[in-house]
Amino acid sequence: MTRLKKTRIQGISLAVISLVGLLLMAHGNTASAADAQEVQVGFGETDITPDVKGEKPVWLAGYGPGRRATGVHDPLMARCLVLGDGKEKIALVSVDLIGLQYPNVKEIRKGLADFKYVLVSSTHNHEGPDVVGIWGRGFFSRGVDDDYVASVVSKVVELVKKTAENLSPATAAYGTASDETLVGDSRKPVAKDGVLRVIKFTKAGGQETAGLLVQWNCHPEAMGSKNTLVTADFPYATVAKLKEQHKCPILYMSGAVGGLMAPPDGLIKNNEGKVLEEGDFEYCRLYGEAVADLATKATAAVEPIGLTPFTVSAKPIAVPVTNPMYRLARVARILRREGRIWEGDFQKLGEMVSDETIDKPTAVETEVAYLRLGEVHVASIPGELYPELIYGTFQEPAEPNADFPDAPLEPTVESILPGKKWLLFGLANDEIGYIIPRRQWDSSPPFAYGRKSSQYGEINSCSPEVAPIIMQALKLRVADVAAPQVQVPK
Ligand SMILES: [Zn+2]
Repeated sequence: MTRLKKTRIQGISLAVISLVGLLLMAHGNTASAADAQEVQVGFGETDITPDVKGEKPVWLAGYGPGRRATGVHDPLMARCLVLGDGKEKIALVSVDLIGLQYPNVKEIRKGLADFKYVLVSSTHNHEGPDVVGIWGRGFFSRGVDDDYVASVVSKVVELVKKTAENLSPATAAYGTASDETLVGDSRKPVAKDGVLRVIKFTKAGGQETAGLLVQWNCHPEAMGSKNTLVTADFPYATVAKLKEQHKCPILYMSGAVGGLMAPPDGLIKNNEGKVLEEGDFEYCRLYGEAVADLATKATAAVEPIGLTPFTVSAKPIAVPVTNPMYRLARVARILRREGRIWEGDFQKLGEMVSDETIDKPTAVETEVAYLRLGEVHVASIPGELYPELIYGTFQEPAEPNADFPDAPLEPTVESILPGKKWLLFGLANDEIGYIIPRRQWDSSPPFAYGRKSSQYGEINSCSPEVAPIIMQALKLRVADVAAPQVQVPK
């Protein structure tokens, strides 16, 4: 009986193979089906470490002001992946910085006008130079070295151009691996994105890995607020270990890091079993390597996907700024980014704020984008998204003492994106701060959870309007592609 069954299965397999062969011949193509899904790929990287021995001080961003860099532990990098479909090119760039601002990204795009789309995402590194303004010598001094930022802009342009000169065909595969214990959440309610997402590129016609695109969701702040050495924090170790394991270039991108996703306490131990803590380079390395191991697990679970054709919808939007600290910093010229008059509609970019209109409601211009790369959906979010806004894991009922407990729930990333295979790039093309579900917003007493003061978060957010606007904008960008009325800002 076994033998009979086997013969039958072999017979069916042969029939299937012949059918596939006939179909391929009917298309005048004797190549394998996978070849149809090839995409042109190039990876590159360049050093963007600031000069800490120069005349100008380098102020480290991410915690309080006044943290001057005293040396370099490991280099800060800009890394890129250029994708081509034979006609058009897209560049995905990651920089080891706290949050490159939208005006700087627009400068980068000016130098890359022949690209269909350029996305520049910051890892949100808390151990690199201030590129925003609020982390200078003291509370009222600006921490940005404009010459350094200009050098990052030109280095990224050169990097992307150079990478695009050497594209080669590859196939792509998508996979995920999950481990929520690898992220700590220091803000209530606990909601995390513990899913690491990866795209593995394999050189066409072989087995050799061409590169990995890795998206993970954690603040690069393993070195904490006392460290004064420039470092890329844990992503340095993640990339180093992945390069060693897979013998290929790596692009590391940060996803939803808001809601205070940080390296966890009590989990990372050294060889002697001692629990290591924040602020220790061994802790930082071991945590980064644990993330690399999760990425390797994801690569073992990949499934082939097509990444072409490319469709992009990206539009500038206005986000109102009511945060009194941000407004003060703007008046004090610590934040030098130009504001716009808030017109009450995020789809309307108001006039630039002038000395005469400085008292009017102000907005900042930013960008939300949706990229459809073949079967993969990419959400491009210009700040630190709270993970509730991905999965809809909102606290129910809302905390009664929060400021807007009855606010409608925002649409979520999972409900908006029209497919299961997706990537989310946070701090993409901008860093506008925390994107907090409106129901969680809590800046006026009485405070949620019986607290005497507000939780950390609101102080680094433009306004309670941010989350509803960002999620609505993402929904519109996805609808644009379905519609198809696509605009790409240059
Ligand atoms: Zn942050």
